[in-house]
Amino acid sequence: MIRLPGLIDPHVHVREPGQTHKEDWDTATQAALAGGVTMILAMPNTKPPVFDSQTLDLALSAAKQKARCDYAQFIGAGPDNADLLPALASKAAGLKMYLDSTFGELRLDDMTLWMPHFESFPKDSSMVLHSESRTMAAGILFAAVYDRPVHIAHISLKEEVLLIKAAKERGIKVTCEVCPHHLFLSKEDIPAISHEHPGRGEVRPRLATKEDVDALWKNMDVIDCFATDHAPHTIEEKDSDNPPPGFPGLETLLPLLLTAVGDGRLTIDHIVEKSIINPRKIFHLPEQPETWVEVDERAEYEIKASEQLTRCGWTPFEGWTVKGKVRKVVLRGKTAFEEGTILANAGDGKNIRKQE
Ligand SMILES: [Zn+2]
Repeated sequence: MIRLPGLIDPHVHVREPGQTHKEDWDTATQAALAGGVTMILAMPNTKPPVFDSQTLDLALSAAKQKARCDYAQFIGAGPDNADLLPALASKAAGLKMYLDSTFGELRLDDMTLWMPHFESFPKDSSMVLHSESRTMAAGILFAAVYDRPVHIAHISLKEEVLLIKAAKERGIKVTCEVCPHHLFLSKEDIPAISHEHPGRGEVRPRLATKEDVDALWKNMDVIDCFATDHAPHTIEEKDSDNPPPGFPGLETLLPLLLTAVGDGRLTIDHIVEKSIINPRKIFHLPEQPETWVEVDERAEYEIKASEQLTRCGWTPFEGWTVKGKVRKVVLRGKTAFEEGTILANAGDGKNIRKQE
């Protein structure tokens, strides 16, 4: 048995408010605990999006009632809310900016709309960029020009990891995260994930080439965090004619990483560094006292969506054999999960940011 500190997942789509048929603060935090994750940072592209004081309160009041692990909530950058956000920074996980195409209120059509956020959002609060390929290069230039830290969400490409490496060597304040699906899956796996349902292979950023995947593994020292980008959609939605992109990931993160440790591709120190120490530093998160995860590193089992606690009902890793099972999770002195059963109550999770 190995004992690890509770993992932090800095990139989770909880889906509440607005899309609780996919997931909510209850099921997302149950899935987190079952995966050995004791703190999640929730993304703001909910319905409505979290982008001002009212919508932040809406998300946080749902979280307060339902969350079973600790959490913080990101606020989203929109075209006309840059003035409002500095006052909310201390209540939020940080600012999320969607620099590539997105829809609705969080859409930032051109770089003039990035500027007020870079000018006014406090430098000691984290700023996370969804920015792929050349947009990521633009985001890193903004970090250099405005001299503030940025964190690049879910990198997936060789060109991205190599540019971040070069930027770090020049002293630019950039950090990044990678998702398990971009480490353990490539384009070549899409037929096996999809079967008759092409929508199941859809995720943004898309699954990349083998060469991209190899480059991420080769540059593991450039990667600051592991993050799931847990993005649940129901199986009916994924198998529909208009499938939304996104994979669930909270319950498969740690088993996949431990399997890679067993295969000699990662070390336990990598997991502690990229799932606990670095996220804590980058996002200014408090330590969770008396919080740990017990894993049986020798237990082999098959991943089955039917045994998962996420509401979405499927996983791209269905049928994979992994080695390393979460046996017990203790959150602030109280057993929160043991042998497949959630023991934490709804509302036991704590908002780690300022309340008022
Ligand atoms: Zn995401």
